[in-house]
Amino acid sequence: MRVDVVSIFPEYLAPLGLSLIGKARAAGVLDLAVHDLRGWTHDVHRTVDDTPYGGGPGMVMRPEPWGEALDALAPAADNAPRTGSPADEPPATSWADEPPTRLLVPGPAGVRFTQAMAHELATERHLIFACGRYEGIDQRVLEHAATRMPVTEVSLGDYVLFGGEVAVLVILEAVTRLLPGVLGNAGSLNEESHAHGLLEAPVYTKPPTWRGHDVPQILRSGDHGGIARWRREQGLLRTAARRPDMLAALPPEELDRRDVAALREAGFLVPPEDVAK
Ligand code: SAM
Repeated sequence: MRVDVVSIFPEYLAPLGLSLIGKARAAGVLDLAVHDLRGWTHDVHRTVDDTPYGGGPGMVMRPEPWGEALDALAPAADNAPRTGSPADEPPATSWADEPPTRLLVPGPAGVRFTQAMAHELATERHLIFACGRYEGIDQRVLEHAATRMPVTEVSLGDYVLFGGEVAVLVILEAVTRLLPGVLGNAGSLNEESHAHGLLEAPVYTKPPTWRGHDVPQILRSGDHGGIARWRREQGLLRTAARRPDMLAALPPEELDRRDVAALREAGFLVPPEDVAK
């Protein structure tokens, strides 16, 4: 996968050289480049912002450097939508089966980033991240880019950050660990929180007793079926307590009778229709 990140603070992205992302880059799984937006300015002050039309506080990122950056990183010829659509062709706003490039623009007004989106992004060939600062990027940059490639405004959550760089670090961590060959034990992806609509059970390691707190006996029993059941129930109970929205979104057929019994025993209400037949 190729990734280009454009920012006015490229040094903010230094952690992308560390740990498993750094290893993925070294191994050639991830071909990542960070670019300084100011490299696409032409005035002596390397200006990237200006006052907002309509007035108001703050500054807005000017479209020209962004336009040049995107032209350079996603050449129009590579990303041309299909045009001149006869009846049997898709509409002019669709791309070839696999669009070569997708633009991601972090922002609090974007769609919420989720594990499902991480999986989706992990299948892309080329991602460009446009890191906004100030009050954000002139909207015409996104409008124009959308004529050439899929554009997604993506939010980390319902709060406001200084800039998009932190969001890029988060998104790229979540995406990179899904790329084949990055995790030593890919099986762990299957059991994690959010992999199947539930939170993961708590985890423990040695020693068996620490400051008067014991590891649950079942985890030391060697009873693999019992351990799997315990983990399932702990995941369910955690999800019910912390993320009732996730439990409510779980298709009823995902809960078997033992799941329902465990939830009811712990005092969580499970509607009768949610009990698997
Ligand atoms: N005026 C914008 C608004 O209210 O929607 C907020 C701009 S914010 C101060 C500056 C930049 O931080 C944004 O362009 C975006 O890159 C980033 N940012 C802020 N909050 C974010 C969030 N929740 N998720 C992702 N990026 C965020």
